[in-house]
Amino acid sequence: MKQTVGRFAPSPSGRMHLGNVLCALLAWLSARSQNGSFILRIEDLDPDRCPRRYADLIEDDLAWLGLTWDAGGSKGGPDGSYYQSARTAIYQHYFDRLQQEGLVYPCFCSRAALHAASAPHLSDGRVVYPGTCRGLTAAQVAEKCRVRRPAMRLRVPDETIAFTDGLQGPCTESLPTECGDFIIRRSDGVFAYQLAVVVDDALEGVTEVVRGRDLLGSTARQIWLHRQLGFAPPDFVHIPLLNDADGRRLSKRDADLDLGVLRTRFSPAQLTGALAHAAGLIDRPEPVTPRELIPEFSWSKVPAGDLCLPAGFF
Ligand code: GLU
Repeated sequence: MKQTVGRFAPSPSGRMHLGNVLCALLAWLSARSQNGSFILRIEDLDPDRCPRRYADLIEDDLAWLGLTWDAGGSKGGPDGSYYQSARTAIYQHYFDRLQQEGLVYPCFCSRAALHAASAPHLSDGRVVYPGTCRGLTAAQVAEKCRVRRPAMRLRVPDETIAFTDGLQGPCTESLPTECGDFIIRRSDGVFAYQLAVVVDDALEGVTEVVRGRDLLGSTARQIWLHRQLGFAPPDFVHIPLLNDADGRRLSKRDADLDLGVLRTRFSPAQLTGALAHAAGLIDRPEPVTPRELIPEFSWSKVPAGDLCLPAGFF
């Protein structure tokens, strides 16, 4: 049996909020309950949005919660740096491979133009790229490059990807009609999340990806990209998002729910207990440590749909 390797992969664009804590807790419990190891990967691809001090605060918050990791963050590990900002040469290598295979093309469309155009919009608001720049000639590309730096897109095949999510169950997605050609390098030269996440999950040996349900729509393309690059895709578990007691989705904008504030109001065990209760792991929201939750942890207890925080608790 292969050893489980789980991971938490936050984008340090601010202080950890309650949704991040739930994700880290469930990912950690899943890995630890299988005697697996756990990695902390810092997804700071965008240097302007992700100053190092936020990554350091994430480590401090995880340690405060009692969530340990075996490799990653400032600890490093066998895969070198676990800060995406330090892995550009690695992404370039895989980008070049895809380019040699003829799968990458420059795209000059602005985001505004795409949203305004009659491109198909999916139910979650995403736009399927209509292929505007797919067939540009070399001369057209050269001409357009004089006025605008292109993003680089990956040409998806006419394939449907089927997978079984650990919580959401069987999922299928048609790459041409529900995903479309997607960006793997932005026009400012920064490699896109979709490429970096696949390369890192593969090279860091991640076998199990636990993350918010808002990323379910990225999974089919990531599975395809894993296979395209010769990697075995990990298993995926997309966890419910958090609502307040009135059913309102919590977001990063709820500043009173970031750990800077929550740490002044709750002990780590109180916070863990409240989240574990909301996620169906314990009957009452009483204080508990992550370690105490390991023996009884099972995904079968966690609902697939949105979770509600107890009224008045936060
Ligand atoms: N960095 C992403 C986030 O913080 C998560 C990516 C992933 O888990 O695949 O939303």
